[in-house]
Amino acid sequence: MNTEDVRRVWPRLLRKRIRLLCDKLKIKTYGESCLLAQGDPVKVFSKDLESLCWAMLNIMDRTGGIGLAAQQVGRKERVCVIDTSCQWDKQTLVEQDGRDLLHQPMDDSLFPLFLVNGKIIVRSEELLELSEGCLSIPGIYARTRRHRVVTVSYQDQWGNPHCISADGLLGHCMQHELDHNNGILFINPERLLAEDLGKVQLLLYEQSQQYVRAKSGRESFS
Ligand SMILES: [Zn+2]
Repeated sequence: MNTEDVRRVWPRLLRKRIRLLCDKLKIKTYGESCLLAQGDPVKVFSKDLESLCWAMLNIMDRTGGIGLAAQQVGRKERVCVIDTSCQWDKQTLVEQDGRDLLHQPMDDSLFPLFLVNGKIIVRSEELLELSEGCLSIPGIYARTRRHRVVTVSYQDQWGNPHCISADGLLGHCMQHELDHNNGILFINPERLLAEDLGKVQLLLYEQSQQYVRAKSGRESFS
């Protein structure tokens, strides 16, 4: 058992399935069509789904992310995994399953958060600007403007219904990942601050040129 397994304690009966999925699934990057696809609702809560959640969490951990959606590993399910516990000071858990938690300290028991069939049901009018990045668009960070507080209804990996309201980083992260379930990336002009749009477009263009040069270099040696 490696360190990652110990930290996340994979369910014993699923360890082999999870390990196989971890080896098989790769993070898809900007330009791949699966990132622009609408996710499909999950109707069957099986061991396969639970294994997918744990495998996505492992991949997210290995790549240093705080959130990952199924579309980022080429899957169609409306599933996201989130763990923003690294930055408690930038977020507040407002409410969870009907319990008012505002001004109470958050704890680690919330994470990892598996959002299956997640849907934003309440959005604050107040907006918040934060800098975002994405495991599928490496090397690009830019400011987005999103709702400061969102309430999300979702099911866990076993199909149990839940509701959570969060402010700040967690609220932002849930909006980012649920956008992925709808085929929307954070570099969408409707999400980015107008001042950062030009910078992002330039960086994407430079990355595409580097890719073309690297590809032609490889071909000249093949
Ligand atoms: Zn992302």
